[in-house]
Amino acid sequence: MLVMMKSHATADEISAVCRKIELMGFKAHPIPGITRTAIGITGNQGPVEAAALEALPGVGECVPVSKPYKLVGREVKEATTIIDLGDGVRIGGSEVAIIAGPCAVETREQTRAVAEAVAAAGAKLFRGGAYKPRTSPYSFQGLAEDGLKILAEVRRDFGLRIVTEAIDVESVDIVERYGDVIQIGARNMQNFSLLKRAGRSSKPVLLKRGISATLDEMLMAAEYILSEGNYNVIFCERGIRTFADHTRNTLDLSVVPAVQRLSHLPIIVDPSHGTGRREKVIPLSRGAIAVGADGLMIEVHAHPEEALSDGNQSIQPPEFRQLMAEIRQIATVVGRTVSPEPADIASRSTIQAQLLQ
Ligand code: PEP
Ligand code: MN
Repeated sequence: MLVMMKSHATADEISAVCRKIELMGFKAHPIPGITRTAIGITGNQGPVEAAALEALPGVGECVPVSKPYKLVGREVKEATTIIDLGDGVRIGGSEVAIIAGPCAVETREQTRAVAEAVAAAGAKLFRGGAYKPRTSPYSFQGLAEDGLKILAEVRRDFGLRIVTEAIDVESVDIVERYGDVIQIGARNMQNFSLLKRAGRSSKPVLLKRGISATLDEMLMAAEYILSEGNYNVIFCERGIRTFADHTRNTLDLSVVPAVQRLSHLPIIVDPSHGTGRREKVIPLSRGAIAVGADGLMIEVHAHPEEALSDGNQSIQPPEFRQLMAEIRQIATVVGRTVSPEPADIASRSTIQAQLLQ
C-alpha cells in the first residue's frame, strides 16, 4: 500500500507516518515526488489497515499498489528518478549519461589512457572492472583492490565518476569504498543476497539485465534493492540470450520504453555486451539514444586486440569520439543533450600530471 501525503505535508508529519508504519511492524519508504511524498509500505504479508494511517495529519489517502513491485513502479513516483553524483553528473536527467571505459582494469597505463580519451570526448563516467565475472575460471579475474586504486586515481585526475562491479556480497564493502556506482552484472541479477546487500549501500546501483531475464524479473530484482532502502538504481539493458548468432547477445531496445512506462528508475543501454561486435556498437548506440535511453555504457580500449577481456566488442578512442559526435545530433531530436567535449581537458590533465611529479 502507498500512503499519499498531502502536497503541503510537513517533514514532521511525514516522519510521524513513517514511525506509525514501523510501529505496525512494517518498513516505511518515504519517496518524495514533484508535488507530494508517497510512503511505500513493505514487510506486510496481508493488507495494511488504512484507517489508522488515514487519520494522521498530512495524509491525503492510502492507495493499494496494483503491481507486484511496490517501490520501483511509477505508482509511487511519477517523475523519473534522477541520480545525482555531484558536479553536474546525473543519470536520468535531460543530459544523457555516458559511461565509458575498458571492460577490465588491466594496468595503470591502459586505464589512464582510456580515461583521458573518454573524458576528452565528453564522457563524465568511467567504467572498468576490478572484479570480473568470467565464464572460465582460468580467464583474467581482475586486479581486485589494486584495480580499484587505479580507478580512484582516474576519478581524482580526470574528474570522472567511477562505475565498477561487485561480484558478490563480500566485494561490495570494498567496491562501495572506491566506486561511485556499484555495478551488479547480468549473471548476478538474481543473486538476492547481493541485491539486498547493495540495497543497504549508500552508493547508487547499476543493475544489469540478466542474460535471459524478463522485464518483470528485472523490475523485481530492483525491488530487492529499493526494499532495503537504497532508491538509487539504474537499469542497464545489455542484451539477452536468443537463438540469433550474428551477435553475442540480442540487444532489446524495446525494453527501454517498456521500463520507462512502468518504472520511475532510469535505464541505460550497453551496446558493447549487447552485440559483442565492435562494428555494431556505434549503430546500436545511435538506436539506444533515439529510443530514449537515459544513457550508454560503452567499452573502450586503446588496443582491443591486446585486451584481457572483451576485446572483440571494445571500440578505440577515435571511434568513441565519433560515437559521441553522432549521438549529440540524435539526442537533440528526442529532446535530450549529450555533454560537449570539455575545452580544457587536455590542459587540465597535463597540469595534473605535472602536479603529481
Ligand atoms: C561488464 O560490464 O563488463 C560485464 C561483465 O557485463 P555483463 O554483466 O552485462 O555481462
Ligand atoms: Mn565486458
